Amino acid sequence: MIIVLKPNSSDKDIDHILDRIRELGLKPHLSRGEHRTIIGVIGDENKLQAQPLQAIPGVEQVFAIMKPFKLASREFNKKDTVVAVGKVKIGGGSMAMIAGPCAIESLAILDEIATSVKSSGAAILRGGAFKPRTSPYSFQGLGEDGLKILRDVGAKHDMPVVTEIMDPRQIPLVERYADMFQVGARNMQNFDLLKELGMTKKPILLKRGMSATVKDMLMSAEYVLSEGNPNVVLCERGVRSFEDSTRNMLDLSSVPNVKGQSHLPIIVDPSHATGRPDLIPAMAFAAVAAGADGVHIEVHSSPEKALSDGPQALLPKQFADVMVMVRKLAEVMGKTV
Ligand code: PEP
Ligand code: MN
Repeated sequence: MIIVLKPNSSDKDIDHILDRIRELGLKPHLSRGEHRTIIGVIGDENKLQAQPLQAIPGVEQVFAIMKPFKLASREFNKKDTVVAVGKVKIGGGSMAMIAGPCAIESLAILDEIATSVKSSGAAILRGGAFKPRTSPYSFQGLGEDGLKILRDVGAKHDMPVVTEIMDPRQIPLVERYADMFQVGARNMQNFDLLKELGMTKKPILLKRGMSATVKDMLMSAEYVLSEGNPNVVLCERGVRSFEDSTRNMLDLSSVPNVKGQSHLPIIVDPSHATGRPDLIPAMAFAAVAAGADGVHIEVHSSPEKALSDGPQALLPKQFADVMVMVRKLAEVMGKTV
């Protein structure tokens, strides 16, 4: 249920409406826009349907959202949400380039990669300290030592950092070092993790599950939003398909698809989507043209020695070339990088 308030409604009116909603055992979410204030109501809608809410002073319109996701829906917020990650903005005309190695391997390697991607124009540094590997015998990440390296290198280069979190028990630790939590494809429907992250204040990069529909992804975002954290950035990273010449199948239509249904920003990860450096540049450009709010690319200074996802890593020089074209395309799309 969405309650649209009159432009001249007072704080007293708003408090009164919020109290009425709470009295009914429901959860209000206040969103103050530039021109409009609206209240999203979460809970049993039947309790509200019977209430003459329209009669409350300050209320202009009350309507139900039929979609299973509400706070994430375009109806809830006509304006694009802009998520701030440190000084970097994602969404609403600001495109953010996220780059770095799949895994944090050492201070020297991460520093080398960060130096190059920063000089090419990447805004956010990525690197995994907890790696969700398909095999338990593969490199699992450096854990807290890796997080410390990530924070130090990010600080040195004045880049906010994003890193994957796999378990709600890791939140206090990861929160100390990261500017943004990444929820990986394998955990997109780890609802306990999503709920706990919803109680934090840091932005969330929510990657599309391997077999998740766009609606599933928006429902997962709703888990975070409904707990009070409005800072969710979605990420299209390809889905499983019958095609076996690429790692996944990049669903670029999800970008405008999400934008029609939701106000949340969405970025594209052509690295995990294709798994192939020869395809990553073209898919990065196509992502910008499709309206993405950012691109996420894995970069390694020595891909053949990388401990994770080496075969899909771009070399720093290749990333620099991608950035040149991304900037041009972003300009055409009316975006700033
Ligand atoms: C990653 O970003 O390194 C990663 C594991 O991505 P995904 O969850 O999309 O597979
Ligand atoms: Mn990876």
